[in-house]
Amino acid sequence: MSAGVTGSGARGGTGEAGGGVDVLIVGGGIGGLSTAYALTRKGLKVRVLEQAKEFGEVGAGIQIAPNCTRILAEYGLLDEAKSLGLLPTGMVMRDALDGSELTRLDLTDLERAYGSPYMVIHRSDLHGLFLRACRRAGVELLTDHRVAGYANTAAPGEAQAAQVELADGRVMRAPVVIAADGLHSVARKLLVDDEPVSSAYVAYRATVPMSETRGQDVDLSEVVVYVGPGCHFVRYGLRGGDMLNQVAVFRSPKALAGEEDWGTPDELDAAFAATSPIVRSGIPLMWRDRWWRMYDRDPIMTWVHGRIVLLGDAAHPPLQYMAQGAIMAIEDGWVLAEHVARQRDGRGGVGWAAALAAYEAVRPEHCRRVVLTARAWGDLWHLDGERRLRRNTILRARDPRDYTFTDWIYGPTALVPGEEPPMYPVIPLSSVAPARR
Ligand SMILES: Cc1cc2nc3c(=O)[nH]c(=O)nc-3n(C[C@H](O)[C@H](O)[C@H](O)COP(=O)(O)OP(=O)(O)OC[C@H]3O[C@@H](n4cnc5c(N)ncnc54)[C@H](O)[C@@H]3O)c2cc1C
Repeated sequence: MSAGVTGSGARGGTGEAGGGVDVLIVGGGIGGLSTAYALTRKGLKVRVLEQAKEFGEVGAGIQIAPNCTRILAEYGLLDEAKSLGLLPTGMVMRDALDGSELTRLDLTDLERAYGSPYMVIHRSDLHGLFLRACRRAGVELLTDHRVAGYANTAAPGEAQAAQVELADGRVMRAPVVIAADGLHSVARKLLVDDEPVSSAYVAYRATVPMSETRGQDVDLSEVVVYVGPGCHFVRYGLRGGDMLNQVAVFRSPKALAGEEDWGTPDELDAAFAATSPIVRSGIPLMWRDRWWRMYDRDPIMTWVHGRIVLLGDAAHPPLQYMAQGAIMAIEDGWVLAEHVARQRDGRGGVGWAAALAAYEAVRPEHCRRVVLTARAWGDLWHLDGERRLRRNTILRARDPRDYTFTDWIYGPTALVPGEEPPMYPVIPLSSVAPARR
């Protein structure tokens, strides 16, 4: 077990206790803040500890599907989100080599089918939405607080609790500590001795004011994904159409060769050199001074260690191909808060053991499915040769209003295992003949 993490039994320590808070949340990303808001709505006193000097999000756009906007609506935040984001009318998948359309979702019909819209929004706007909601709700928000260690503090005759040790040596304690500390979670080491898994893919991003897109032929009413051999390119609008968002993702030959310095701009240019003119026209707009190497982790089914709980990317970091990472974190917080509400006793206390057990009974299985499907979905997007042509046959045959493949993910978030819908049917590539292109 790594330094900084101790198992159950550690006691007390220097400095303050939780100061009467019900829950300490480590990490003020989208997962930590949305969960702080969800629990505060249920009457709990919550403190968030964020290591950065300021709350904020780095990055570009984010897609939020009906299983997320449904929760935003329940929180009373959907109208504000809509005013910040964009509601596209279609999501289209195209072949990156020849630009031809493979399949599409009619997002107007999808909203009717799931009772909630599909949105795109700048991630700093989504993060800011939760930050403002937390401030209004009275969440205690502390920046410049880096957590270095965790411990359960159960002792005979004492209420169960957990504590965190900060980098400066102070200790804070609460009945429950939620670790929403992202891909490199310190708390995760309490539950599993694993490491992030490199996919050897890297993402370049860009958000560009439409006025600076140099006459690009862009239709912001659609989210477009161009899928190609070892690469893909995503394009959609942000901020009511004032901004263009692009993501260019490719497999890095240098990563596969074991080189340290991988995912560099020269590899970006080479990866997209054979794609269609419309994809190539977007590449010069990408930011070239930073890029994101793509990692996930193998799913784990245990997220609760005494009174220490994993949430968001700390529990289930995915590859981004399903566009569900932040959504899963938001769902985690909603599910946990619902179970907290069900376990309130008449005196305002929470039956934490039952609430945490109910959370752990339902969320790991759902997230396991998403993490593994994201890997498979990425493999499908990046096929080459005859397998690419067989994939294209399957995608072109799909009815745009057939939701067989999205029900398991865009439907209502399950609160108990029995509500988790069945998975989608798998169509083997070998079951079809290759398309001519
Ligand atoms: C290219 C790309 C595209 C994506 N697109 C989508 C999409 O369209 N839709 C979607 O839903 N998801 C998407 N995702 C995934 C999504 O961004 C993440 O899953 C999500 O942001 C995870 O949120 P989180 O709060 O769990 O973790 P993080 O965002 O990593 O937040 C963790 C926070 O904890 C803090 N922290 C860490 N360690 C400590 C510590 N020791 N002490 C105190 N604080 C600490 C960090 O500073 C950070 O603020 C995408 C990801 C990528 C890379």
